[in-house]
Amino acid sequence: MKYCFGPVPSRRLGRSLGVDILPMKTCNLNCVYCELGITEKFTCDRAEYIPVSHIKRDIETVFRSGRHPFDVLTFTASGEPCLHSRLGELVSFAKSLCGKPVVVLTNGTMVPDPAVRHDLCQADILLPSLDAVHPRSFRKVNRPADCVDISSIVQGLTDLSRQFRGEMWLEVLLVKGLNDSPDDITALREAVEQIRPHRVQLNSVARPPAEPWARPLSRERMEEIRKFLGSRAEVVVDFNRRLREGFMPVVEVEIMEILKRRPMTAHDISEILGIEPETAETVLDKMLRASMIKTEIFQGRTYFRPDKTGAGA
Ligand code: SF4
Repeated sequence: MKYCFGPVPSRRLGRSLGVDILPMKTCNLNCVYCELGITEKFTCDRAEYIPVSHIKRDIETVFRSGRHPFDVLTFTASGEPCLHSRLGELVSFAKSLCGKPVVVLTNGTMVPDPAVRHDLCQADILLPSLDAVHPRSFRKVNRPADCVDISSIVQGLTDLSRQFRGEMWLEVLLVKGLNDSPDDITALREAVEQIRPHRVQLNSVARPPAEPWARPLSRERMEEIRKFLGSRAEVVVDFNRRLREGFMPVVEVEIMEILKRRPMTAHDISEILGIEPETAETVLDKMLRASMIKTEIFQGRTYFRPDKTGAGA
């Protein structure tokens, strides 16, 4: 599984088989909360960064093996998936192959481009982000490349919402003190009324962020904002279900593949692999001692990441 990973627990989608279609980390934003760390190389150029034939082969292999039951197949990336110039073709291929809903996660910045909207319209569920509407707050939280223009994004999302036949869930990630002022939230409400997504999913900093100082909002403030945004809005809750029935042997390489995409706790790993928490802890401990992974404390919880300096890098 080079490009496919998981299924991973998604707070929004259930068991999500991820397909990562870009090299690490290819993005046009540098969000303070990014779980992948700092964006070192910005780009706004669409290109076939990874050959489509390789990605298709991987999806086909995973799907035909039947080893990994999943609810949805999610195109995501170690960056922004819309930067892959053949995204639409990949989405159509996955839909015809697996018959499950196909989801695309996007930061929403490229939707002013009609060709990007056309590609996104091949999916069943779209999860575009919109963290801030005011240019100043957008710059603070998302730190865009020069080629990203926030003023055209709301209109692009509105056009996309009109064109798209599936479900569109707008994700808003709120960071304390950056995009949560009353002004920000009022502008966001106006944008939501214009875009008219099916849902608005409010999220906050839940895993170790690119910037250690990025902090989540309190539960109470999230609730206040949810009420203010109206009936479409919801606060996304922690995933809490077992993903795989029965015991399957833990393969360290599988854990590394998962941790490469996002930091996880021992509990997350046990959920994803369907194993007892003690077993996950034992394997993680072994990997720690072999310097394959390292720990990071965030909000009182211990997360594991690949250790780039260690033997497993
Ligand atoms: S959170 Fe997503 S959009 Fe933001 S920098 Fe990370 S990969 Fe890019």
